[in-house]
Formats: sequence, C-alpha cells, structure tokens
Amino acid sequence: MLADYHMHCLPYSPDAQVSMADLFQGALDKGMTHVCLTSHMENCVQDPNFEGQFPPFREWDALFAEFEAAKRTFAGKLDLRLGAEIGAPHYLPEEGRRLYAHPGLDFVIGSIHNLRNAPDFYFYEYPSFEAVRRDVETYLDEYLALAGAGLCDVLGHIGYMQRYMARQGTGFDIMLYEDRLRAIFRTCIDRGVGIEVNTSGLRDALGDFIPQPAALKLYRDMGGELITAGSDAHRAQDAGQGIREAYALLKSLGFRYVCLYKDHKPEFVRI
Ligand SMILES: [Zn+2]
Ligand SMILES: [Zn+2]
Repeated sequence: MLADYHMHCLPYSPDAQVSMADLFQGALDKGMTHVCLTSHMENCVQDPNFEGQFPPFREWDALFAEFEAAKRTFAGKLDLRLGAEIGAPHYLPEEGRRLYAHPGLDFVIGSIHNLRNAPDFYFYEYPSFEAVRRDVETYLDEYLALAGAGLCDVLGHIGYMQRYMARQGTGFDIMLYEDRLRAIFRTCIDRGVGIEVNTSGLRDALGDFIPQPAALKLYRDMGGELITAGSDAHRAQDAGQGIREAYALLKSLGFRYVCLYKDHKPEFVRI
C-alpha cells in the first residue's frame, strides 16, 4: 500500500503541467496503489492586490466528469479519491465551509500559502531569516486558527516557505517554534484534524520533508496519529515521489499507520 494524497493537474490547478490521466499514470508507474487528487481552491483568499492569485475554483462539473472517466480507466489498478487543497479556508469561513462540504470531495488539505492581504510566500524575497521572522510567526499563528476552524481534514505542508527560502540560500529550523507547534498539534489532536508529510522539499533545494522530521516526531510524541503523505506533484514524473521515504521516516518516528480518507473520515492503513 502506497498512498500519495497530494497532487495537482491541469486545468483545475493552474500551476500544474500535466493532465489528470498522465498524472495518475505517473503515480501508477511509481508503484502507488492509492492516490488523491487535491486541486487548488483559493476561493477564500481572493484579493485583487495579491500577486499571482489563482482564480476561484468553479470547474466542478468538468472535474467530476473527468475524474469519473479516470476511475474507469484505472479501475483495479489505482484507488482514486477526489480531494482538494483549500487555501486558508478560515480567512473566509463561509466559503470554506461550502467548499469543504461539497459532495464528491473525500478529503481536504488546509494549506496557508499567504498571510492575509499578502502575496503567496512563493513571491517573497528572503534576504535572511530575520527579514521574514515576523511573517513566519504570523503564518504559524494562522495554522493554529486553521486547526481549530473545522474546515479541513489535514494541515498541509507546515513550513511551506522553507522550500523557497532554501532556493535563496536561507532558512530556519521549524523547532525554533516548538511552543507554537505544540499549540497547533494539541488543537489538531483535540479536534480530530491530521497533518501531512509533504515530500516536495526532497526534490528541491531544501532536501527535507515539510514539516521537518523533528516536528513530525513532536506530533507523534504528543499522541498525533492522523497523518497522510503527499508528493505535491504538479508533473507526472513527481507523482509518488518520496512516499516510500516518507513511510520509512514515519515508521522510524513511531507511526504505525497512515490515513486514507473517505467522506472526510480517516481509514487507518498499516505501514
Ligand atoms: Zn500547497
Ligand atoms: Zn499542493
């Protein structure tokens, strides 16, 4: 059992470079048995001042039709689920609730790509960690709010900006924020919200999981059990990348299961 629970395809995720069928074939080629497509839905962070803002997601009918066709194509080979990666749903909770409850979605990753009234961390300049320290703190405070908002199943890629900081030759250790992480994970555990281990940093300058292993260990040591692994692939060749490595890491940290999701309910599968 190898489950990649975070991936993107065209045209539903504008930053992807691959069709749905080719993405799923890429996952199959890497030995995945389960995948969940998690298209970007940035409906809750719409602000005309944002740089590079994705349009609000509205292509439900096309998405469902293409996904149903893919399920037929990959029947017996891949367990396919339909999910979403919703950007900061707690910024606009009513819309976040509407998206989360949309029939047909089995799984929702809640991800923060930008602070309120600020561009995506992708567009930042990172001359040093000190230059962005306050924004990193605000970012983690927003994850705490998101964990308590009941608008997602797992928190996506905690420490997202580390990927872009590494490209610019800087970074920080997420355990600088152990107190904030403890508050986030306590809320997650109390509210039945999981976290993901995102493997995209392994194939980038960062060369590490997001969040970093020490944070995953903290979550486990606090009693956290709900966890998914995702490649965050936007290209066929990235689908399934790092999932085996993520499972090996999780096992070494004391996790015995990862979760699949059906109708927002976790199913525990032994790793
Ligand atoms: Zn993301
Ligand atoms: Zn993503």
